[in-house]
Amino acid sequence: MQVSTISYPRIGAKRELKFGIEKYFKGEISQAELLNLAKDLRQVHWSEQAKNKIDFLSCNDFSFYDNILDAAVLFNIVPKRYKDLGLDSLDEYFALARGYQGDKGDVKALAMKKWFNTNYHYLVPECEDASKIALVGEKIFNEFLEAKALGYRPKVVIVGIFTLLKLISFSNDKDFNVACESLLKAYLALLGRLKDIGVEWIQFDEPALVCDLDSHDKELLGRLYGALLAHKNGLKVLLQTYFGDIRDCYEQVLGFDVDAIGLDFVEGIQSLDLVQKYGFDTNKILFAGIVNGKNIYKNQYAKSLKVITELQKITQRIVLNTSCSLLHVPYTLQNETKLPAKTLQHLAFAQEKLQELNELREIIDTGNSTHKLLESNTTLHAHRLESRNDELNKKIAQLDLGNIKRLPSFKERQSVQKQALNLPLLPTTTIGSFPQTSDVRANRLAFKQGKISLEEYTAFNQAKIKECVKLQEDLGFDVLVHGEFERNDMVEYFGESLEGFIFTQNGWVQSYGTRCVKPPVVWGDVSWKQPITAPYTTYAQSLTSKPMKGMLTGPVTILNWSFPREDISLKDSALQIAFAIAQEVLDLESKGIKVIQIDEAALREKLPLRKGDWHTQYLSWAIPAFNLVHKDVKPQTQIHTHMCYSEFNDIIKEIDAMDADVISFEASRSNLELLDALVANHFQTEVGPGVYDIHSPRVPKVEEIKTTLKAILSKLPKEQVWVNPDCGLKTRNNPEVVESLKHLIQATKEIREEWR
Ligand code: GLN
Ligand code: ZN
Repeated sequence: MQVSTISYPRIGAKRELKFGIEKYFKGEISQAELLNLAKDLRQVHWSEQAKNKIDFLSCNDFSFYDNILDAAVLFNIVPKRYKDLGLDSLDEYFALARGYQGDKGDVKALAMKKWFNTNYHYLVPECEDASKIALVGEKIFNEFLEAKALGYRPKVVIVGIFTLLKLISFSNDKDFNVACESLLKAYLALLGRLKDIGVEWIQFDEPALVCDLDSHDKELLGRLYGALLAHKNGLKVLLQTYFGDIRDCYEQVLGFDVDAIGLDFVEGIQSLDLVQKYGFDTNKILFAGIVNGKNIYKNQYAKSLKVITELQKITQRIVLNTSCSLLHVPYTLQNETKLPAKTLQHLAFAQEKLQELNELREIIDTGNSTHKLLESNTTLHAHRLESRNDELNKKIAQLDLGNIKRLPSFKERQSVQKQALNLPLLPTTTIGSFPQTSDVRANRLAFKQGKISLEEYTAFNQAKIKECVKLQEDLGFDVLVHGEFERNDMVEYFGESLEGFIFTQNGWVQSYGTRCVKPPVVWGDVSWKQPITAPYTTYAQSLTSKPMKGMLTGPVTILNWSFPREDISLKDSALQIAFAIAQEVLDLESKGIKVIQIDEAALREKLPLRKGDWHTQYLSWAIPAFNLVHKDVKPQTQIHTHMCYSEFNDIIKEIDAMDADVISFEASRSNLELLDALVANHFQTEVGPGVYDIHSPRVPKVEEIKTTLKAILSKLPKEQVWVNPDCGLKTRNNPEVVESLKHLIQATKEIREEWR
């Protein structure tokens, strides 16, 4: 049996790519040096997979920022404002990704959105003129040729035409139709060129097929693939789907003239049923995704083999595959020196997943149901369960999720809080973090390495807090934050202080561009041990008479940005965490903190891809989990929440049902479409739609912020509006932040005058 991976992580075992690109941005290395580094990394990634006997390697899974942006550039979907900068191709690419501000001009970055139900973000291709779409890029060809020169013959991976069309943002419907035709031509040209340079397999990634498809979608899908496959000219096509099953188009896809179909048997709850019900075409190969590309727990071989055995009753032509790209898991366990061996044996990162594929193949090939690899894996899983918290689980079992409600009602609280907090019109605040400059990170590292004492570590953070509070007072903010200098990451920080999590040293996963996150691992039942945030928060409050916002991360986000256990339901894990954070909220309140923000940055992220599953599988416990966190606070305590990067328009009602007092949204990159949804849904909660984009180093002008504010105020009553950046400031540097915030305050002052 052959084995394959959908794509391999590109960031490097030690995040070499991230550091290289960041050095390039700072002008510390040349473009040639960066290109060499990328080349070396690709070589390592291919050779590692080859060493592990992966039969289908991938190329073009590498990217300097994002694969969807790569596809946009490949097909000339680049707005004029970027071309007008007159930069060389790599710098133009980075301008699209992060904006550009310099001697050649001033443009914002493309919008960024979450990649399906993951914590990876892609850049949204923006199509100004669909007639200009054409095959113009070279990267995809160069990568294949580079691999070929090394003796490999990888499959070439690219986002499929259907998914790409779904992701592009068009100015009008007519453009969409033009784009269908011009993009089709461009893909055909691509197939031709790939064939010419000796490519055997092309993999079209079509995750959009696991979403709800209506009759128009299916007609489009059929038309696109009909036209494309009629001219594949002997090139072999793998239609790869992931993140779920393709129940809306399985039969249709089966009829396509592709050479292989990739299905996800991990998240695709109906995948096996579909194959059993509708059969499989024996002229095609089935790429069976059974090694989880999204989680880090070791594969349960017995369970996987059962799926394979069932599939073998229907087709013999099976390739063992990962369930999705390995981009979503960390690189290797080899650099994990702190976790005990008995813990590590339960985990598998990308590299170890290659071994899993190999071991599964070996068990299958030997046809041996008593194979020692299988037996030891079964024994491992049998000993998996850690001690459980029975008391907590009993409390959870008794919850009535539909009836968790904070009292009194929002309206009553609103007037109590107006009195208690006495804030001006259009109150200003920030989302929490201030720049994590190198001294901040160095201080944390020194403490972790035992080079400085707890007193020294704390004193440094307190000095930072003092500066930060002073800065906000000088600038004129109304609700202050302490700056989150003690936090490595908004989830890891809480995980470290709660019972039930374990942590890796190098378990980094790419989130967007050069930004990586290191998700904690849910290892057991989660509970609160002791106060977490009170010491720094109360210290910060002692420095000012303005309200200091307590900063917490919400239960759904903690869970969504962790690797979950596979034998405890997400619902139970979320509720366990909710009980813990609720205790933290009450602790802060009891110590005099009057405003508490509970970030649910990732609430939207794990929303099931199919609408029919939204409520039953997710919102029915995710919203109550948030309600549980603040249900017992006093009416005068103001609860904020914050959400980022995604489209909220379709769950606005549920977000309102979280019953916070104030919510800040990332909205500046998605052009405030959100406002209409707020109005249409009679949104009650006070709102701070981000007035500028913090994901870009660009400093917004006062006028720009004023324009944004005016747009907001043209839709929402002024009493409902807060002014804030669109997310935390930790990834920016101090000069950028100070300038931007100055402009934010200035713009607010001017607008207040006009709207008083
Ligand atoms: N409070 C966090 C911060 O400011 C929120 C981050 C986020 O939404 N991703 O960094
Ligand atoms: Zn955010």
